[in-house]
Amino acid sequence: MFTIRQSFKFASSINARSIVSLSHLPETHQMLYKTCRDFADNELAPIAKQIDKEHRYPSEQVKKMGELGLLAIAIPEKYGGTGLDYLAYAIGMEEISRGCATCGVIMTVNNTLYLGPVKNFGNEAQKKEFLTPYTDGDKIGCFALSEPGNGSDAAAASTTAKLVGDKWVLNGTKNWITNGPDASAAIVFATTDKKLKHKGISAFIVERGIPGFSYGKKEDKLGIRGSSTCSLIFDDCAIPKENILGEEGFGFKIAMKTLDEGRIGIAGQALGIAQASLECAVDYANKRIAFGNPISKMQTIQNKIADMAMRIEAARLLTWRAAVLKDEGKSITKEAAMAKLAASETATFCSHQAIQILGGMGYVTDMPAERHYRDARITEIYEGTSEIQRLVIAGQILKQMSQ
Ligand SMILES: Cc1cc2nc3c(=O)[nH]c(=O)nc-3n(C[C@H](O)[C@H](O)[C@H](O)COP(=O)(O)OP(=O)(O)OC[C@H]3O[C@@H](n4cnc5c(N)ncnc54)[C@H](O)[C@@H]3O)c2cc1C
Repeated sequence: MFTIRQSFKFASSINARSIVSLSHLPETHQMLYKTCRDFADNELAPIAKQIDKEHRYPSEQVKKMGELGLLAIAIPEKYGGTGLDYLAYAIGMEEISRGCATCGVIMTVNNTLYLGPVKNFGNEAQKKEFLTPYTDGDKIGCFALSEPGNGSDAAAASTTAKLVGDKWVLNGTKNWITNGPDASAAIVFATTDKKLKHKGISAFIVERGIPGFSYGKKEDKLGIRGSSTCSLIFDDCAIPKENILGEEGFGFKIAMKTLDEGRIGIAGQALGIAQASLECAVDYANKRIAFGNPISKMQTIQNKIADMAMRIEAARLLTWRAAVLKDEGKSITKEAAMAKLAASETATFCSHQAIQILGGMGYVTDMPAERHYRDARITEIYEGTSEIQRLVIAGQILKQMSQ
């Protein structure tokens, strides 16, 4: 198998206007696509059902993704990353999630939610300790923003951090943390001054095993069941003073920038689920005979296939546009929200239609359609619900059009 780490030297002159389909991408991206597709087809799709059934964290597959360079795609090579870009990341996320959405979420959390803020805001010492060892699958990280009392309203954080001598002392609970039980370090958002609201929030790097840091129960989820999700509990947890990420009071900005980038990853995950649903539906429709013909000959079934394919392609273009603009150093708040919203609603739509096309076979676990349906649902919730994406988009449009 082609090893991305060894073979990529990235050089590209693409821009947001020039990408229309895979064949317009630079050779590097086409190679990445093929590597991910082969890996997903040969090593993820065959065991995705089992991972889901057993709620099993796929540690072997995570390690392999690390070896392939998929856990640190847009991290510079000098820090141990693959040295590619966000477009490559979006493509990789789609292909891996097409094979196994659980592996997709583990991949996106490490790439953008954990490594992203350390790369963007960490100092050199932090990068050495908390970036490089997390690039090859030996260690993975997580991102802890949500709390039991607030998810969408992230500025209402009630976890506190207080400077006592040369330590930050954290108290509070973070909820729903993906990779939580398996992560060696977490980016934790806590307030140093609640009166300042979002301007009082700072970001901290907290390592596993530190006294005062424990875990809540593992969540029993509807989908992406192989990924581990739990709460993180901080009870007088004292971390070194130098583990603050960026400046004090800068945490909310770090969280928002990180989520802009993370939404490209979730859009990629959603596209992978949608594409897998379409493939499953087309395959079945060609084989299933009703009234003397394959059901793919029926126009009502063809209408569904057309709508699924059109939505996938539209959402993919939005996702690639957000990624390319990010690679050009542009602000992508609106574009990433549009990509995530379009792709996640496409995943919901396509997985729903796939079950309809499969009829009774769509409803049982013999076929992957029901898993795709369950996996799709979360893409409309995490990293900002669909309602929040619409608020973000409308806010940006109103700002632009009122100038
Ligand atoms: C499986 C899973 C994994 C997750 N992983 C992580 C993780 O790794 N790290 C992390 O920090 N968090 C994580 N989350 C948390 C996730 O980001 C939140 O669940 C999500 O942001 C929504 O927050 P909430 O659940 O508190 O819902 P709420 O914020 O309570 O929202 C409830 C409903 O109200 C709507 N609503 C809220 N405010 C508004 C508004 N202003 N306008 C319109 N509608 C509104 C929402 O859209 C939603 O429909 C995860 C969640 C799940 C389920």
